[in-house]
Amino acid sequence: MDCIFCKIVNGEIPSKKVYEDDQVYAFHDISPLAPVHVLVIPKKHLSSVLAIGEEDVELIGRLHQAIGKVAKETGVDETGFRIISNTGTHGQQTVPHLHYHVIGGRQLEWKA
Ligand code: 5GP
Ligand code: ZN
Repeated sequence: MDCIFCKIVNGEIPSKKVYEDDQVYAFHDISPLAPVHVLVIPKKHLSSVLAIGEEDVELIGRLHQAIGKVAKETGVDETGFRIISNTGTHGQQTVPHLHYHVIGGRQLEWKA
């Protein structure tokens, strides 16, 4: 499949790994918006939250658990952080493989 995040999962495109288990992969965003900017993705290709099926419910739980591990690993667990999953055109999603931005390491503003 011609998906850059699938290529990152299978090692065709290099990435800076933060966390990995059998179902989830997390890596530093190539264009960070803050001192900590990590992308947490399922290894399984799902295009967005809209593609999450009944069979993926456990995977999504694991993914959210992994976000907590990433926060601890990158040191933002105590100072706080934000999780974002941009979806579709208005959400300005640019990569059609489900991903959660984990952003922190500085005081964030809330502007949509
Ligand atoms: P979206 O815009 O879909 O919410 O987020 C896609 C994110 O993927 C962007 O923040 C962008 O910087 C990041 N990104 C795009 N291509 C690559 C890549 O090849 N490697 C890494 N590490 N991040 C990427
Ligand atoms: Zn993919």
